[in-house]
Amino acid sequence: TYGAAFAVRWMGTVAAAVAREADRLTELDSAIGDADHGANLRRGFAAVSETLAKEPPATPGAVLVTSGRVLISTVGGASGPLYGTLLRRAGKSLGETGEVTRAGLADALAAGVAAVGQLGGAVPGDKTMLDALTPAVEALRESFAAGRAAAEAGALATVPLRARKGRASYLGERSVGHQDPGATSSALLFAALEEVAA
Ligand code: ADP
Ligand code: MG
Ligand code: MG
Repeated sequence: TYGAAFAVRWMGTVAAAVAREADRLTELDSAIGDADHGANLRRGFAAVSETLAKEPPATPGAVLVTSGRVLISTVGGASGPLYGTLLRRAGKSLGETGEVTRAGLADALAAGVAAVGQLGGAVPGDKTMLDALTPAVEALRESFAAGRAAAEAGALATVPLRARKGRASYLGERSVGHQDPGATSSALLFAALEEVAA
């Protein structure tokens, strides 16, 4: 099972991954957005790491709730409230439990993904982070590696799609042929999860 320290390591590994991949994420966002996705997430997850290091929460649920709150308050772009809602709702759904199983984590993240859909009004196929998150939480029931693989496949599958939500939707047909930045960063979340679970 997985406890608070695991959740803190997960968030720290995400912070390192988005910092390492920030230029690539921003490049993807420059093609169909406003070229800030890498900077947004690097700033947001750096603040998450800093907060968790200062006052480490006692449960995995509290780690995710705190992380989500920090993302919402530090990231101005659409991705801040959306990722913030994902983590906050997942954390709330874990409740007070000190240790969580992989299946329990999959259930909690599924609740988080549903909340992202409610907040942003997107569904899978709209060329957003949901195209990676939705198959990833399903596959997480099988294994951490399956979750990561499904997220990466979902991100790649956004290339031929036409964006129907977010800034990329303003481009209409011209959004086709580019990988969605948010779906790409969602794959980093699941790669980090596999990494820390190993
Ligand atoms: P902004 O577009 O405000 O500059 P970011 O560049 O940080 O914010 O994030 C853009 C990403 O957010 C997109 O690539 C997409 O995956 C995601 N996104 C945008 N709008 C929505 C939405 N309504 N629902 C789900 N995801 C969305
Ligand atoms: Mg942007
Ligand atoms: Mg922006």
